[in-house]
Amino acid sequence: MKRFIGLFFMLGLLTSAIEPPLPQTETKKQIVLLIGPPGCGKGTQAAPLSQALQIPHISTGDLFREHMSKNTPLGKAAKQYIDQGSLVPDELVLNMLFERTSQSDCKNGFLLDGFPRTIPQAKALSERLKDAHLIAIHLSLSDEAIIERISGRLSCTHCGLVYHKKYAPPKKKLVCDHCEECLIQRTDDQEEVVKKRLQVYHEQTEPLIHYYAAEKRALKEVDSRGEKDQVFTEILKNLNESLCR
Ligand code: AMP
Repeated sequence: MKRFIGLFFMLGLLTSAIEPPLPQTETKKQIVLLIGPPGCGKGTQAAPLSQALQIPHISTGDLFREHMSKNTPLGKAAKQYIDQGSLVPDELVLNMLFERTSQSDCKNGFLLDGFPRTIPQAKALSERLKDAHLIAIHLSLSDEAIIERISGRLSCTHCGLVYHKKYAPPKKKLVCDHCEECLIQRTDDQEEVVKKRLQVYHEQTEPLIHYYAAEKRALKEVDSRGEKDQVFTEILKNLNESLCR
């Protein structure tokens, strides 16, 4: 119960449309999935959401980037797919993810950003977490807006914080405000690779929207065109509705 106090406190501040909190008997593991095209704001929203919900934020993209920066065998295997804008094969993703979710901080639940990305991944997750309460948030954004957002994106090589050349520039050019390390454009954020990632998204990940919509009330739709705080409030409202059902 304690882990939801932060969520309800923030909801109190952010919106007047508050539903009553969860009943005391709620004990299920809570799994929140952020599904959406590259650049729709999954990573941006995941950090404050993880704080509000008091569950860890797990980004499969970040896990792969960590492996690549350490040059591990998994990092080397994943790099060839990531640099081309393709998906890493399910088997590699699933082993890496389930190793992470078996850690003790995930015992009450977790927030997934960038997973699942294919129907077999979604099925493997459901199979693994049969008794969990799962809610998928679909953050929608048009392809044009995505290309504009991603081609201006800069990422910190050290802490992973994300900036935008035009909309969220760092105080000092190409230097992270938080840890003062260098900012770079990820290889997979270059325009041609982004187009490929979008194609992959439409073909392999978008079917998940129908997959979760078919599961009673497992899918919530959020328009991610708005300001960061507005989108955040909208996600919290949707989660609250789902958690209080
Ligand atoms: P992201 O930071 O979530 O955009 O992920 C960056 C890249 O990592 C993706 O373009 C994929 O190549 C790979 N990746 C991340 N998550 C997955 C996943 N669930 N399944 C397959 N590939 C993934």
